[in-house]
Amino acid sequence: MPGLDDLYREIILDHYRSPRNRGELPSPPAIRVEGYNPLCGDDIVLFLDVRDGRLADIKMTGRGCSISQASASLMGAAVKGKTLEQVRDVIDTFKRLMTVHEAHLERDEEPERLDVRRLGELAALQGVVRFPVRIKCATLAWNTLAQGLEQAA
Ligand code: ZN
Repeated sequence: MPGLDDLYREIILDHYRSPRNRGELPSPPAIRVEGYNPLCGDDIVLFLDVRDGRLADIKMTGRGCSISQASASLMGAAVKGKTLEQVRDVIDTFKRLMTVHEAHLERDEEPERLDVRRLGELAALQGVVRFPVRIKCATLAWNTLAQGLEQAA
């Protein structure tokens, strides 16, 4: 479905060119957490405002390739305002999107299509798994977020 691929490319470019939730939050009280992907040179700094069991606000800075920055922007839009339980659920779902495909690629099979409706715009990143070297770009922000949430526990 080339039409779908075009849509996904548009979503990624849109988030790369107009990244959501850019900026910083005073830290403390916000949790500040940094991530770095040496394979590509991507870096990300997240500011997490966690209150009453909810990710009340998220801001980010960083620089890197289009995949890493678009993934961070898509992530922020997907998790902002959600309860920590919901945020962890989105992280798990996204990581499955990356690893499920990886497992299929190792067996040289057509990647399984997850239920993309549940993923919303995040589904745009599923094409990344066809380029294994870029998976670390796509997961950087997510691993950094998971690390930051550990500090909130
Ligand atoms: Zn990258």
